[in-house]
Amino acid sequence: MNTLSLAPHRRLIIVLLTTAAISLAAAGVTFVRGGEAGLIPAAIMLVAAALAIIAAVVAHRQAAAWLVIVTRLRDLVEPEAAGDNAVTIRDPGAAVEDTLTRIGRRLNSAEASAYQLDLVLGALNDAVILTDIDGGIIRLNESASQMLGYAHDGLFAQPIRVLIAAEHRDGFRLSDEKRPVETIFVNRQGNPIPVSYTTSRLDADLFSFAGFIVSARNISERKVTEQRIRYLARIDPLTKLSNRMQFRHLLQRAIARAKRKKHQIAMFYLDIDRFKDINDTFGHVAGDIYLETIASRLTKLLPEKAVIGRLAGDEFAVAVEWDGPPKSLMACVQSMARHMLTELTRLMVIHGHEIHTTLSIGIACFPKDADNVIDLIRSADAALYRAKKTPGSSFEFFDAAMNAEEVDRLMLKSKLRRSYQLDELLIHYQPKIDLRTGTVAGAEALVRWELSDRGLVLPSEFIPLAEETNLIIEIGEWVLNRVCMDIRHWQETTDMPGRIAVNLSLKQLGQANFIRRMQDIFSHHHIDPSRLELEITESTLMHDAKHSIKLLRQLHELGLTLSIDDFGTGYSSLSALQQFPISTLKIDQSFVRQMYANKDGTKIISAIIDMAHSMDMDVIAEGVESELQLRRLKALRCDHAQGLLFGEPMDADSYLTLLTADHSNGYASNNLFS
Ligand code: C2E
Ligand code: MG
Ligand code: MG
Repeated sequence: MNTLSLAPHRRLIIVLLTTAAISLAAAGVTFVRGGEAGLIPAAIMLVAAALAIIAAVVAHRQAAAWLVIVTRLRDLVEPEAAGDNAVTIRDPGAAVEDTLTRIGRRLNSAEASAYQLDLVLGALNDAVILTDIDGGIIRLNESASQMLGYAHDGLFAQPIRVLIAAEHRDGFRLSDEKRPVETIFVNRQGNPIPVSYTTSRLDADLFSFAGFIVSARNISERKVTEQRIRYLARIDPLTKLSNRMQFRHLLQRAIARAKRKKHQIAMFYLDIDRFKDINDTFGHVAGDIYLETIASRLTKLLPEKAVIGRLAGDEFAVAVEWDGPPKSLMACVQSMARHMLTELTRLMVIHGHEIHTTLSIGIACFPKDADNVIDLIRSADAALYRAKKTPGSSFEFFDAAMNAEEVDRLMLKSKLRRSYQLDELLIHYQPKIDLRTGTVAGAEALVRWELSDRGLVLPSEFIPLAEETNLIIEIGEWVLNRVCMDIRHWQETTDMPGRIAVNLSLKQLGQANFIRRMQDIFSHHHIDPSRLELEITESTLMHDAKHSIKLLRQLHELGLTLSIDDFGTGYSSLSALQQFPISTLKIDQSFVRQMYANKDGTKIISAIIDMAHSMDMDVIAEGVESELQLRRLKALRCDHAQGLLFGEPMDADSYLTLLTADHSNGYASNNLFS
């Protein structure tokens, strides 16, 4: 606080009063000595004395007035000091000047922001629309004007909703939430433009009006890329049929529909006998042509509504919905199977070679043999297994006696529970490498199960079994506990164990007290949640998106990092994913594998990386197996990678060795990173 005194003004008043006193005295002396002659000079001195007195009074008054003005101004500029009456003024002139300078600065900065606002808006690549508080358009910046085809003030006073496609208007809100949302704008020519936009409120105190600023980015290219990504993830590039994942998805939908309409479904599982011989004898190119021909014959001979897929190398699948009388299904299915056998095994001539093959088909029906996708495919597969035993082309229907596999599965399930109870499960860590430095950024925890009579059982085999019951919740918690214990242990040797990722399954997310249980585990092991990352697949997130958003935001607040696993293989749109507090996208291995398999491979990866970066997400590529892939990913500015190129997933001790070896430089000394 300023400590001011009135001394200078007192001094001024004293000087003036002294001047008056001297003038009066001088006037008296002049009058007495000069008689008549001294009258005029004495009068002049009296006037001077009177003026000096008046000046002293004014000076005194002004000092008081200044005090009031300065206090008022200071209250205005620094309201936090208002009411502070202890202010005394050392130099009112200086205080006023000081205060005015400060006001000026404030005013200048307010003017500057209005000016800067104009400048900045003009220079932005994003389209910016200013509206009043009711959404009436005030002006468009240059980018908005170009994108929408209107002049800067061409839509003045029109509601901003006129720019939104009719079917998206209900979802459009002007708010201060600042989270990007997607919608469709319509330009002057009536063409739709997909955009990602944010809105923020303009404060009347800072600007000359209250309103909103809508900042929109044209995401047309991103949308096209997204469609391409989804297409590549679902379609077998060779035959252009649905791949296994997509086939399962379509079959699932068909089953849901059939349940509603009380229809039946016949599923055919086809396998070409001794396909390997074709590859070995005539080469892979001939093998590919053969598979393409099978695919096109299948498509031609089946009804349009049939679902057709290529499940693996020489395995195809067909699902046909039957709305006729239940009794006639079998006869119809038999005739279809015969038709397929005849058509698909017709002679093929490839590169001048005549190729004869035989085919086996396994058939299972919904709801008779199975009531869900997994079991229906499995039953058809069991029937195929039987058909393959018959020499030549043949088909077989599933029957209950084929349930040996089912029994095996149940056995495996109970063994898994037992192994879990006996603490026989293991965790292996797969390092995640920072592609800029080659250092180990962390690892993914992958559960392992070894059976004495069977060897290593793959998670892809036993995790779905565990997911059928609540065992997955118990295994999930066990993994988290184990990981926390390992982190504690590593922290005794190194302060940089990296961030450890744990896979989360749908059932865990659905647990009523999930967050509480997680917190308990962290505090039990004294682990800071920011040491951990959760990997969640798109389908898990989207299963109950509202619930997931709530949970994930809570987890995020705890300090956990979240990443989308197997990105690209799901069915959600990026805009839907944007609502989650996700910091990393994991590009699915299938994309990394296809990187050099077809001409779009690299383009797609590059698009995913750019897209993720534009949404402030990091990108990690999984399943990196070759130096070629790694170099390309580095060039495409992928942030991290994991995969067999850096070795098999390892136990906790080996991971610690990796962390501490080479001064924690991980793979930095590898010439791939030099
Ligand atoms: P994911 O989360 O996508 O894990 C990556 C899988 O890719 C792992 O398979 C890993 O071993 C494998 N992998 C890593 N690098 C390469 C590579 O360069 N080439 C190839 N071909 N494969 C590579 P894994 O360990 O068999 O796990 C399979 C899936 O099982 C995981 O897929 C994950 O979804 C699930 N899983 C594993 N552990 C757990 C767990 O503790 N809890 C839950 N809920 N799921 C888990
Ligand atoms: Mg994972
Ligand atoms: Mg994955």
